[in-house]
Amino acid sequence: MTSSPASQHLFERARAVSPGGVNSPVRAFRAVGGTPIFMASGEGAWLTDVDGRRYVDLVGSWGPMLLGHAHPEVISAVGAAAARGTSFGTPSEPEVLLAEEIVARTSAEMVRMVSSGTEATMSAIRLARGFTGRDKIVKFAGCYHGHVDALLAEAGSGVVTLGLPETPGVPAHVTADTIVLPYNDRAAVEAAFAEHGDQIACLITEAAAGNMGVVPPEPGFNEFLSQTCARHGALFISDEVMTGFRVTRSGHWGLDGQREGWAPDLVTFGKVMGGGFPAAAFGGRRDVMEQLAPSGPVYQAGTLSGNPIATTAGLTTLRLADDEAYGRLDAASQQLQSMVTEALVEAGVAHALQNAGSMFSVFWGVDGPVTDFAGAQSQEAWRYKPFFHAMLDAGVYLPPSAFECWFVSAAHDDQALSTIAAALPNAARAAAQAVPAS
Ligand SMILES: *Cc1c(COP(=O)(O)O)cnc(C)c1O
Repeated sequence: MTSSPASQHLFERARAVSPGGVNSPVRAFRAVGGTPIFMASGEGAWLTDVDGRRYVDLVGSWGPMLLGHAHPEVISAVGAAAARGTSFGTPSEPEVLLAEEIVARTSAEMVRMVSSGTEATMSAIRLARGFTGRDKIVKFAGCYHGHVDALLAEAGSGVVTLGLPETPGVPAHVTADTIVLPYNDRAAVEAAFAEHGDQIACLITEAAAGNMGVVPPEPGFNEFLSQTCARHGALFISDEVMTGFRVTRSGHWGLDGQREGWAPDLVTFGKVMGGGFPAAAFGGRRDVMEQLAPSGPVYQAGTLSGNPIATTAGLTTLRLADDEAYGRLDAASQQLQSMVTEALVEAGVAHALQNAGSMFSVFWGVDGPVTDFAGAQSQEAWRYKPFFHAMLDAGVYLPPSAFECWFVSAAHDDQALSTIAAALPNAARAAAQAVPAS
């Protein structure tokens, strides 16, 4: 591993004042070893760390940076918005424009802005419970919906990276009404609804699972969920925090519901719609959304909700995310997926590379497609550690966990892709030669 004295120094200071030295667990490199790299700046597909080293970025801030870093138009719109004042605590124009843009692009008839994906899913569940007058919720193992207490049961992302079975601090009674089922398992869904149907407020699912690695829904699965919920008077919540405005101009719904003629009752967004700022939203059917305060009785609020700078960043990002940008993004992702496959095949590494649109990830050492959390956990995640470090040393910044999705941006051009291509063969050989930790 290359040494990074400035990152090392900052990490030591960080550890003295912040638990684990980070403000979100997966950033800490626990799964891959070594010192987390502190980034100083970003431009397009590239990040520069505090030691002055440059990397092609395949994390994209875990999803938001659809256009790449520091897009000049986003930066200038944000600068102009900041100069007008940073928060008013009143309604302002940018939040209306962003809400209109989201309503125009997606299945949502109305939206409420919040500041994180966690807040969006938490609020959507409260609304579903308030609307139906029922308590039980259904989720899938390996789907992550933020760190909402009731949804941390068998969640993916950092919970699985760190191997935490359940988290302390969530009382058993808080998850007692959470039913956890295997992803892509229609029979399990039917059985749960047969038994508890009249008590289920909602079923929440990632529109395509991306937090246990990428596990796409089997064809027709989301529509089946939507119909099953409707039959039992439960609401179907599609969590598009990761997929929204990334997989298509609407989200994963652009790949299934929009074509098949169905829509979720509620949908959650975050990541891309904040343009790198803390902005998220939940939305959906007008009759359900109107149950929210102040038009209805279900309480939900936020001091910084609809913040003018965050919504300006999101609006500018979405306006720039046109068909041409999605074309570039998809082409770059496809090229990258072929390069990764070729390098792993060449080095003899058994794997499954799985995608949902431009989002993809690699499952290591598996002998067929991964369709659920048990399959994701059966992978040889230890092969990722040397792969990750070989890529990092060659100037490619990957997510520091085998259970996370790789994020490409519309700014990943030939130069970025050729840097990755040059790094892959050596990293693939390192994965082939890896041995499990004893
Ligand atoms: C990231 C993510 C969340 C949580 O969003 P935060 O902004 O990190 O709170 C929720 N759901 C999904 C599908 C996500 O990928």
